[in-house]
Amino acid sequence: MLPLTESQIRGSLINASRKEVKDITLPSDFDDVDWDRLDYYGFRDRKAPRRGYVVVRIDDKPVGVMLRKSEVKPNNRAQCSWCRDVTLPCDVVFFSARRAGSAGKKGDTLGTLVCEDFSCSENVRRLPPLPYEGYDLEAARDRRIVELYEHVVGFAEAVAA
Ligand SMILES: [Zn+2]
Repeated sequence: MLPLTESQIRGSLINASRKEVKDITLPSDFDDVDWDRLDYYGFRDRKAPRRGYVVVRIDDKPVGVMLRKSEVKPNNRAQCSWCRDVTLPCDVVFFSARRAGSAGKKGDTLGTLVCEDFSCSENVRRLPPLPYEGYDLEAARDRRIVELYEHVVGFAEAVAA
């Protein structure tokens, strides 16, 4: 994805109040992010670890969603709804997002199971195990990269709706 600046990230959040946007603490490694290898940018708030933020570009415009990690523990075979990784290198947790606008003010939220450290882009770039001889692993990987992007866009659009 195209790199995002700190002010673009802050300006992109569709479901956060002005105060919540002001309170965001970016990761300490923000300057070293390898944007070329990301389909979306996700991070946890260093100062408020239950908070997470996810930013994806839709028609080049950054759209960000603030998330809150739920206490609810998914069962241990849970799969991330975005990268659908089956090899489970990381923990998958339940996040909820307040809906944008008046629905959110009424307390309406949207939940999703996502990799705890937002490592989806890394997961989909790993070659999957070979299911059978002659299977096109590279094509499968390319498809997963496209699907990851579509899943995150779908989620951001649902929060915005
Ligand atoms: Zn994932």
